[in-house]
Amino acid sequence: MVIHCQRCTACCRWPGEVVLSGGDIQAIAAYKNISENELIQTFTRLRQDRRGLALVEQPEGACVFLDGNACAIQPVKPHQCKDFPNGWMKALWGKVPREELQRDYPMLFNCAAVKTFLKSEPSQDSKAY
Ligand code: SF4
Ligand code: SF4
Repeated sequence: MVIHCQRCTACCRWPGEVVLSGGDIQAIAAYKNISENELIQTFTRLRQDRRGLALVEQPEGACVFLDGNACAIQPVKPHQCKDFPNGWMKALWGKVPREELQRDYPMLFNCAAVKTFLKSEPSQDSKAY
């Protein structure tokens, strides 16, 4: 299963943290032509559980790098962004009861690409659940 992003930007506006992991800081700093320290000071904050860094948000809650309907760092967007929704679907779809999915992972059901997948794969939807 490969789900193709439709750039609806729902995931970029969803409340929560865009967590930075292995190599994200270096890649984004290089892409923006700023130092890693400047990137950290300007565009990141401590995660709520204090285990690492996340991107800061714009005042209305969207990711700091959302520019209109585009990601300003698309070629080097964090692993978390690259992994959504396919990584989540691979790990969860057909393995976790749908009620649980909707309760614990509401973002999946707000993703335009997943919505399209659900429409095009009704048999899989009903078979899995
Ligand atoms: S880094 Fe880009 S893809 Fe990731 S949440 Fe921010 S705007 Fe969206
Ligand atoms: S919510 Fe889904 S379709 Fe929309 S931008 Fe994110 S991954 Fe792409």
